[in-house]
Amino acid sequence: MKIGGFQRTSLIDYPGKICSIIFTIGCNFRCPYCYNHRLVLPERYVEPIPIEEVWSFLKRRKGKIDAVEFTGGEPTIQEDLIEKMSKVKEMGFLVKLDTNGSHPEIIEKCIKKGVVDYVAMDIKAPLERYSFVTGVSIDIERIKESINIIGHLPDYEFRTTLYPALSDKDFLEIFQLIEGAKRYFLQVCKLKDTLKDCTHLKQFSREKIEILKKEALKFVKNCEIRE
Ligand code: SF4
Repeated sequence: MKIGGFQRTSLIDYPGKICSIIFTIGCNFRCPYCYNHRLVLPERYVEPIPIEEVWSFLKRRKGKIDAVEFTGGEPTIQEDLIEKMSKVKEMGFLVKLDTNGSHPEIIEKCIKKGVVDYVAMDIKAPLERYSFVTGVSIDIERIKESINIIGHLPDYEFRTTLYPALSDKDFLEIFQLIEGAKRYFLQVCKLKDTLKDCTHLKQFSREKIEILKKEALKFVKNCEIRE
């Protein structure tokens, strides 16, 4: 596993839990608004962190941290993801996976092996605009499959970054796509220091975001705005 960052403590990433976060290097998407581009574009890759540093910290913090999150980049492209998740589970932590949903077979494997407790999946766009928003050619059947697998878990979330290029119609189609979801987040989009220059775009106003939240709540059970 190539690790590009390790955050020791977060109180906001795993609902109700204190977690540490492992950031993996490499992603198969190219979302223009990505602020983790140093984990995405090979020419900008950060220096990898030895995994021993992570294990040693986690051993010392047992009892003080509830969970470990694997995020990226895209963790499901790491060949040894399941092995590393198993190790974290054996150490006694809950495990969270953040994914772009491009590898439903890996998500399913993690679930079947019992190495993941919470999955967070990005819903980037309505299905027909996925390739436009992610900057790569996408097999939307795989995205649909991931949504279906994750939507049957006891603990999960879907979330959408409020990319200003998305229209009202796009949001409506996104909400319809995840109809019935237990937990959904609308995430404020950062427009500076991103994978592609997004500074010419205009953030959605707070008022607009609240309207989107109200609209989302017609389809999902719970919706929050994440700054
Ligand atoms: S925002 Fe897009 S490009 Fe960035 S890590 Fe997530 S999926 Fe990859």
